[in-house]
Amino acid sequence: MAQAQAMQRVVEDVVDEMRQRSDRGEVASYIPELAKIDPRRFGLAVVDAEGRVATGGDAEEPFSIQSISKVFTLTLALGKVGERLWTRVGREPSGSPFNSIVQLENEKGIPRNPFINAGAIAVSDVILAGHQPRETLGEILHFLRHVADDPAIAIDNDVAASEQRTGFRNLALANYMKSFGVIENPVHLTLGVYFHHCAIAMSCRQLAMAARFLAHSGRDPSSGHSVIPAERARRINALMLTCGHYDGSGEFAFRVGIPGKSGVGGGILGVVPGKASVAVWAPGLDASGNSRLGRIALEALSRRLGWSIFGA
Ligand code: GLN
Repeated sequence: MAQAQAMQRVVEDVVDEMRQRSDRGEVASYIPELAKIDPRRFGLAVVDAEGRVATGGDAEEPFSIQSISKVFTLTLALGKVGERLWTRVGREPSGSPFNSIVQLENEKGIPRNPFINAGAIAVSDVILAGHQPRETLGEILHFLRHVADDPAIAIDNDVAASEQRTGFRNLALANYMKSFGVIENPVHLTLGVYFHHCAIAMSCRQLAMAARFLAHSGRDPSSGHSVIPAERARRINALMLTCGHYDGSGEFAFRVGIPGKSGVGGGILGVVPGKASVAVWAPGLDASGNSRLGRIALEALSRRLGWSIFGA
């Protein structure tokens, strides 16, 4: 009980500190629907190994999880095809923007990792194989509702439509991969899956709950049931650390020191192996498309709670 109060206190302190700050970055505007979000929103939620939840600010408000969804589609693709996934997508940090076209050309249509847009589109294509897009999206939602233990999670269709209308760069990436045979389904179907899973709306609380299996060796810590093998959880965490923030991944590891995945909706999901899962939401972004205040908040939280995986 005392520990729960201590964690809640730290979360509230960080929320208060972040309220004072004015350096919030810019809300993503290339997806018109996201440009409408108020940059002053801020939410934070932590779930620890005992299942205690601490929340602050707008932690219960659903927002567009965007690229955070790539963690969960990667989990599903690995469940479906296992190691064979790595013939279609690499696992090295890109050091390039999340929507880089030039890198894909240099590397003959094989995306550098599953978290840049090209890599996540290839992952969507893998999960889609043998299904209709509606079935694949149903499977993604079913998995998220299961791991978050919350049946209310849904897709925001306005965001999906907004991106479908304006996602010309993703269309270019997908067509380019198609020319190398890296995309097997019709491009418009694969992109339909990709845009819709990026448009899933979740709150900080739901996201932190959904990532518990990554923080606890592939198991749901409340039931003890295995979600994925421990080795797979370890590897997904490694990819989050090295690739989860695109060309800002080194900076995130340097400052926060935990595996994390950002989205242009302003969310960041963090995994503290053996200890906790955490989600933050602050819609203003930095130059790499990562939540500016979100990173600063996680840096403060990680320092206060001794979370860095690199030592105290
Ligand atoms: N749906 C977004 C896009 O494709 C995801 C990008 C992100 O969150 N980094 O551009």
